[in-house]
Amino acid sequence: GPAPEADTEARAWLERHKSTFGHFINGAFIPSASGGQFDTFEPATGARLAKLAVGDRADVDKAVAAARKAQTSWAKLSGHARARHLYALARMIQRHARLIAVIEALDNGKPIRETRDIDVPLAARHFYHHAGWAQIQETEFADHVPVGVVGQIIPWNFPFLMLAWKVAPALALGNTVVLKPAEFTSLTALLFAELAAMAGLPAGVLNIVTGEGETGALIVDHADIDKIAFTGSTEVGRIIRERTAGSGKSLTLELGGKSPFIVFDDADIDGAVEGVVDAIWFNQGQVCCAGSRLLVQEGIADLFHERLKRRMLTLRVGPPLDKCIDMGAIVAPVQLSRIKTLVGKGIAEGAVLHQAEIEMPKSGSFYPPTLLSNVQPTSIVATEEIFGPVAVSMTFRTPEEAIQLANHTRYGLAASVWSETIGLALHVAAKLAAGVVWVNATNLFDAAAGFGGKRESGFGREGGREGCFEYLKPKAWLNRKPRNAP
Ligand code: NAD
Repeated sequence: GPAPEADTEARAWLERHKSTFGHFINGAFIPSASGGQFDTFEPATGARLAKLAVGDRADVDKAVAAARKAQTSWAKLSGHARARHLYALARMIQRHARLIAVIEALDNGKPIRETRDIDVPLAARHFYHHAGWAQIQETEFADHVPVGVVGQIIPWNFPFLMLAWKVAPALALGNTVVLKPAEFTSLTALLFAELAAMAGLPAGVLNIVTGEGETGALIVDHADIDKIAFTGSTEVGRIIRERTAGSGKSLTLELGGKSPFIVFDDADIDGAVEGVVDAIWFNQGQVCCAGSRLLVQEGIADLFHERLKRRMLTLRVGPPLDKCIDMGAIVAPVQLSRIKTLVGKGIAEGAVLHQAEIEMPKSGSFYPPTLLSNVQPTSIVATEEIFGPVAVSMTFRTPEEAIQLANHTRYGLAASVWSETIGLALHVAAKLAAGVVWVNATNLFDAAAGFGGKRESGFGREGGREGCFEYLKPKAWLNRKPRNAP
């Protein structure tokens, strides 16, 4: 079980704020203008964690005005000066890594092992990486200017890491930000704002407004915002695209997925089984690029499923602060019931359910690791994103059939190919409709590699050089030679 003192620092932080948080606007926490509040809960226990402010029109106006005012001077800083700020933010994340990791685990329900080893270090790396781009901005992006004031809206599955993916490139390249975290998981964004102020980030450069979808819509519609960067569901992405059409705002969308995980009969079976664990049970399957569609070559299907089921028996589901667990809680009861409904529909359409007989916590929003086999490619569980720990398995005979099945989706975010024949793996990888393809691997992320999708998984990239261009506008400079030039 979790060490009793594991969360002392986190509880002290909540206590210091009396478990009540305002928005972070122009360098300070302020309550909602309307006084509106909402509760945020601990998914593992259902207990209330904190009260958050509801962002209404006056709050969003204030945040945008602060960001607008700060943008001119922020953009005027040299790239080196902005880089120093990003390095300071990265170091601040590392210095407070444990606190961030614990708050994230409590607020989201994900295992502390993941927040400690993945979410927080990758977030720090994102700031370090983008400090580098800031440093060479004047030469690398000489014919580009910052977009301006950016509205950023993020989901609950990687609250802190998604903040880093959004904030780091925006700030590095001279933009200022109004960010709305997801309503289930706002705490690490507020903690980050506090750390940013301690690190000396100028007031107004980063503003956090909390609230639900309505607050997000106010940001999307705000007339003085130059760009919207959104990560979330395809459904909301479509709404935002419609609402920003014709507004002159730039837009990037990182949306859902139903990524294929293809296992050929010559694959390293044990490696691929571990791959499935990472692909669909990591973060309880609440991963946009989760390898949620298992495509297994017919000849090894029985063996593969058998090995997978055996591995499922050793997965441990439990409280997020327990360092030994593999899976924590589902983010909220509403998501849990969505998963249950979809699995029920899959079974009704003929899928065979397998859930390992493992010990499960008695209360809280938990769902066991699940495998659905005998699934038809047209079945709802093969086409809809479940966003839970549910692997959906189908078989194929030939590489061509694998490619066809893999691409039979409205999404196009990620794909994973497992084969010991490198020629085959590369041939298939080239034909897959996806923004990122992993060969004999899955869920690998790198701040230097642009991440993003195609089709209904959205457009735009986060990370690397491509990601930088999302926060810049090209500007051509054409001069006639002055008349007195030599
Ligand atoms: P969601 O779309 O419901 O919510 C995302 C954010 O949008 C939240 O902050 C929410 O408050 C806000 N929002 C809701 N309605 C809005 C509106 N009308 N206008 C503006 N903002 C609004 O998604 P979710 O349930 O939080 O997240 C899960 C989804 O996110 C999944 O589909 C997943 O695949 C996707 N996701 C994608 C990526 C990626 O990089 N492609 C990463 C993580 C999650």
